[in-house]
Amino acid sequence: MPSAIEAIEALATGFATTFKHLFRRPITEPYPEYKRPLPERSRARIVLTRDPDGQERCVACYLCSAVCPVSCISMQSVEREDGRRYAAWFRINFARCIYCGLCEEACPTAAIQLTPDFEHCERDILKMVAEKDDLLVDHCGKDTAYNFYKYAGVSTDVGDKGTHVKEDKPVNVKSNMP
Ligand code: SF4
Ligand code: SF4
Repeated sequence: MPSAIEAIEALATGFATTFKHLFRRPITEPYPEYKRPLPERSRARIVLTRDPDGQERCVACYLCSAVCPVSCISMQSVEREDGRRYAAWFRINFARCIYCGLCEEACPTAAIQLTPDFEHCERDILKMVAEKDDLLVDHCGKDTAYNFYKYAGVSTDVGDKGTHVKEDKPVNVKSNMP
């Protein structure tokens, strides 16, 4: 419980701040003519990025879809001949997205990323549904050097898969009996 003096001090500080702003000139930004540069980590339009070698980063693991609090991400996974997965289709309903960034946090491959581009309002709500073609970009986004397949589950000079310290043997992901 603050003392009477502390309460008066807090009130005086608050009023002083208000008083100071009474004599400040207003700052008006004539948007959309002037667009304030936003920080790189601003959370707006979502994109699907590529590896430095140009391949799609998304391996259709469904983690972003699972973590999304408003269930606005859906996809269908398929597998290439070499076993690498990708999304046959990938859809985000931006009309539901709350730009929380949880999908980006959950993504193991740094595929899904939020960008500072916030200008994508539509009068027709159905136009807010973005398909894979709308989302896929031809660059790496924020993580320019990251390549999931170069680091995850690879043999190294120290040992083969499953032989490193505290590492389990690889499992056959197509079997229910690893
Ligand atoms: S930013 Fe949040 S709400 Fe939007 S798609 Fe990602 S997890 Fe879902
Ligand atoms: S964007 Fe990332 S989290 Fe979502 S399915 Fe693709 S790889 Fe998984």
